[in-house]
Amino acid sequence: MDSSTCKRIKELYELIGPNLMTLNQIATVTGTSKSTVGRYVIENYPEEFRKKRNELCYHYANQKELHPNYKGGRTMEGGYITVEKPAWYTGRKNSKYVREHNVLVCKAIGITEIPKGFCVHHINGNKVDNSLGNLQFMSLSAHKKLHLELKRRGRTYGCK
Ligand SMILES: [Zn+2]
Repeated sequence: MDSSTCKRIKELYELIGPNLMTLNQIATVTGTSKSTVGRYVIENYPEEFRKKRNELCYHYANQKELHPNYKGGRTMEGGYITVEKPAWYTGRKNSKYVREHNVLVCKAIGITEIPKGFCVHHINGNKVDNSLGNLQFMSLSAHKKLHLELKRRGRTYGCK
């Protein structure tokens, strides 16, 4: 496994909180297998940490199961991860939920909504990989051009 994949697994594995990902999800996002991720964490984290993290995984999973409208819970909609709209977010006025990648990019660049005529592109085509390195803030026209170019090269993934 190359060092950048290791680094990504490490980043995602140490993301504790409502955004915590299962080993399966980390494997999907990093393009590896669950057993690869499992091996990595066994080699790099003490058992105590792994146990505690597992408990948290169940905790968040149960929270979602028991309360489908659990505040702040991440869900999937139209192939994208959505989150409850943060109080500071000024876009999507009539909506309770927003796409997580838009929220993350706004936070990163210090704006409160995606301005008209702009969007966020998923660089590797994986619409659930919302790591900042995979998100590109760009104008709609540049985005359209980019997708035409990708299509020309046989990569026909959709992205909004
Ligand atoms: Zn795109």
